[in-house]
Amino acid sequence: MTRSNPVIVWFREDFRLADNAALLAAVETGQPVLCVFVLDAATFPGGAARWWLDGALRALDAALHAHGGTLHVLRGAAGSLIPELARDSGAAAVHWNRRYDPVGRGVDTALKAALRQSDVAAHSFAGALLHEPWTIRTRQGAPFQMFTPFWRAACAFGGPRPPLSAPSELSFARLPETLEDSRVAPAGFGLLPVAPDWAAGLREDWEPGETAAHACLTRFLGDGLAAYGRVRDIPAAEGTSRLSPYLRFGHITPAQVWQAVAQSGQEGTKFLAEMGWREFAWSLLFQHEDLARRNLRGTFDALPWRTDPEGLRAWQTGRTGYPLVDAGMRQLWRTGWMHNRVRMVVASFLVKHLLIDWRQGEAWFADTLVDHDPASNPMNWQWSAGTGVDAAPFFRIMSPVLQSEKFDPAGDYIRRWVPELADVPARLIHAPWVADAGVLGTCGVVLGRDYPLPIEDHRQARARALAAWTALRN
Ligand SMILES: Cc1cc2nc3c(=O)[nH]c(=O)nc-3n(C[C@H](O)[C@H](O)[C@H](O)COP(=O)(O)OP(=O)(O)OC[C@H]3O[C@@H](n4cnc5c(N)ncnc54)[C@H](O)[C@@H]3O)c2cc1C
Repeated sequence: MTRSNPVIVWFREDFRLADNAALLAAVETGQPVLCVFVLDAATFPGGAARWWLDGALRALDAALHAHGGTLHVLRGAAGSLIPELARDSGAAAVHWNRRYDPVGRGVDTALKAALRQSDVAAHSFAGALLHEPWTIRTRQGAPFQMFTPFWRAACAFGGPRPPLSAPSELSFARLPETLEDSRVAPAGFGLLPVAPDWAAGLREDWEPGETAAHACLTRFLGDGLAAYGRVRDIPAAEGTSRLSPYLRFGHITPAQVWQAVAQSGQEGTKFLAEMGWREFAWSLLFQHEDLARRNLRGTFDALPWRTDPEGLRAWQTGRTGYPLVDAGMRQLWRTGWMHNRVRMVVASFLVKHLLIDWRQGEAWFADTLVDHDPASNPMNWQWSAGTGVDAAPFFRIMSPVLQSEKFDPAGDYIRRWVPELADVPARLIHAPWVADAGVLGTCGVVLGRDYPLPIEDHRQARARALAAWTALRN
């Protein structure tokens, strides 16, 4: 091995230069780095997250360019491309930051063994979580099943390690010619929607990348954190951090967020506990690889879910006739993101009002969220459906109207996303069907023509859900 043998840094969900243990350790070897990403169909995300991935690749490439390097994007199966690259570049080692989803872990474990067999060192590092999913355990050494004790134990465990700096100098190795055929230029990533191009709202709202992630955090610390506990449930207030896609793609690490909150000198307990839910989700996925497929409470396997393609379509397209539900589903479709309170309301509506299997909602979110992650999404769906371990009980059925009155009292969020109702006064906007047709007419709305009538009656839907649940218990 000579000083010119490269160290391969295999980027996956860690699109950043700072607090990147795999990259820093590679640089510290003093050998040139070969930065790669593999577009591997086995680990492709859903549609909206693919849009984000395209931006993440370009932003990381630009950041490496500023240091005189490139991110080499290869298309193919990582399991064969990475060993090929290691062999043909004469790499001294391959570095990566660990991922914890079952598919990714499977690929990485097999790859580690294959590299070692070819005498190439494989080093993996932590960074995506405050604590790796197997770390926080009960006194008996078992994984936690409830969030509150989990988070108490995580906090008692101590804060995360201090974030690492970005390497100040980088020297780069060239991609071996033998791999040129697998290399793809940005125009060929094939991650962006073309016909139709549904990403206009994503482009308006989001800028992927490490710089944008830190700008987002700085903005939140400046004008969001102080009021977070008070306004985080008000969708019109935009009082949450909007860091979720940046965390999902590793543009920023939870350790960096943790440290920034601590250094801001502000009270951050509530906000950090929300990040704790993300940690809890990963610890659950680590225990239950089939979190997105199986009810954690097996009794729910017998629940008679309805087959209702029309209801599902109305929910997906924001045409249920319940304004808060429709506002949320349209925000999701347009921007790839939805406010957390509204995510809970729309999830409850699908599962309880429509009695549609939560897995169909999970799959829709997986395809439409820019922040979709394989742990938080199924955990929250199972929470909403009552099928999870630490979940809202099934019999607690959220009323979309009461939620709307409570959390969007002036109807501002609804007006923004359901413009047909823009002129409807606040007292009627949460349940327009109870309004006098003449009054609605003066606001330019005829129900059934300009905006749907409710696809389900709340009371009847509630009774149906409770009957299904009671039958299940009996
Ligand atoms: C049905 C449903 C599905 C969801 N799917 C996802 C998903 O795929 N990916 C995802 O990141 N979040 C998911 N969430 C959780 C939550 O809605 C989002 O994390 C949050 O809305 C992101 O906005 P924010 O960054 O402004 O959050 P903030 O309130 O600013 O919270 C800060 C960070 O904490 C984490 N966080 C907050 N709440 C939760 C939570 N309930 N579960 C897990 N992590 C949380 C996120 O990383 C978030 O960025 C889901 C929630 C529900 C009810």
